[in-house]
Amino acid sequence: MIIILLGPPGAGKGTQAAHIVEKYGIPQLSTGDILRAAVAEQTPVGIKAKEVMDLGDLVSDDIVAAIVEERIDAEDCAGGFLLDGFPRTLAQAEMLDTMLLDDLMEKQERNLDAVIELRVDADLLIERLRTRVKETVARGEEPRKDDDEETFKYRLKVYQDQTAPLIPYYEKQGKLKVVDGMGAVDAVSAEIDAKLDQFRR
Ligand code: AMP
Repeated sequence: MIIILLGPPGAGKGTQAAHIVEKYGIPQLSTGDILRAAVAEQTPVGIKAKEVMDLGDLVSDDIVAAIVEERIDAEDCAGGFLLDGFPRTLAQAEMLDTMLLDDLMEKQERNLDAVIELRVDADLLIERLRTRVKETVARGEEPRKDDDEETFKYRLKVYQDQTAPLIPYYEKQGKLKVVDGMGAVDAVSAEIDAKLDQFRR
């Protein structure tokens, strides 16, 4: 099962990704998490990506595509995986299509099953951000640099400009499943399950 989780920052992708991982037993591949780990370890990719990430901009398509290509070749992804935060541009979506097609030619059956779009009201996202930052501080942890309110608003704009075009792209492929992301966590999970159960293998 190969699934993409799409939605603006703060839509609840991380929370729902955890649910999908548990329920369907596929690994989560979050390019944001992988990049943050690279920044923390100061790898060459991390050093390149840090400034761009702090500003709320997108890391180059080639860098993230290389990360994903390497990761999906790992053994634990053989039975499928969940992409969280990738693709984020049309170019990345096309690169993913090519990667899966290449795998198909090598006789590995790899089809993108569904793209779950978590649809949320933009006004609610700022509220959710404030709650997330407060909870992080309450746990004694440092909030993400890109969760600063101005940067967050900029990330929303980047989503609208660069990532939202993926919605019609996947709609045309017949892969798009829209889920109302405004409800309680369990209600959103239940709606995701209703859309994904047909792909269970
Ligand atoms: P996220 O945790 O998914 O919100 O990602 C945090 C940051 O990592 C983003 O604001 C981007 O700077 C970078 N990033 C994560 N995934 C991608 C991607 N697919 N393409 C470009 N940049 C990305």
